[in-house]
Amino acid sequence: MVSRFTRRFDPEKPRDHLDEQFDTHQPPMGTPIPSVPPWSALVLPGGRPHSLYHGRRDCEALTADVRLAAQCAQDVKVQIVKLDAVRGREDRVGCPLCRPTETDYSKIKDCSVETEMGPQEGMRLLWREDPAAGWYSLVTYKVKYRQRSRLVAESRSAGELRELPSPS
Ligand SMILES: [Zn+2]
Repeated sequence: MVSRFTRRFDPEKPRDHLDEQFDTHQPPMGTPIPSVPPWSALVLPGGRPHSLYHGRRDCEALTADVRLAAQCAQDVKVQIVKLDAVRGREDRVGCPLCRPTETDYSKIKDCSVETEMGPQEGMRLLWREDPAAGWYSLVTYKVKYRQRSRLVAESRSAGELRELPSPS
C-alpha cells in the first residue's frame, strides 16, 4: 500500500477532507499497536439506550464516543470487560466498525446524516445527554471515495439528524 501524505502530515499541502478520510499513512515504527486481550471487550458506559463494546482501542467509533462523553461531561474511562459478560446483554451492542459480525442491527436505528457530500444514509448508534439536556448521537455512515468505501463515526446533535424518533 502506497502512503499518501495529506495536510495532517504535510502543512504545505491544501487540506483535502476526503483524502484525510482515506489517509493510508502508517504510524511510525515503534508506535505501540493498540490491542486488547482476545477474551475482552472495551466499553464506554453511559450511552442510551445502550453502549457499544469494541475490540480495538483505536476504533474510530470508540474515539468519537470518548470525545462525545467528554463533551457531555460524562465519564470517559474506557472499561475492559470480559467478552462473555457483554455478549447478550441488553445494554451492550457490538460496534459496527470493529465488531461488525457481532452487531445486533435490530437495536440500531437508521437515520439521515448531513455530510459534506450531502445527506447520507447512516446509523444512529447511541445517544448521550449533556448537562443542559441537549441530546447528541454517535452516528456512522459510509464514505465512498475512488471506488472504496469505509464507515466513519462522528457525533451529531439531535437537530442535525432527520427522521429520528425521540430519544428513548
Ligand atoms: Zn468499535
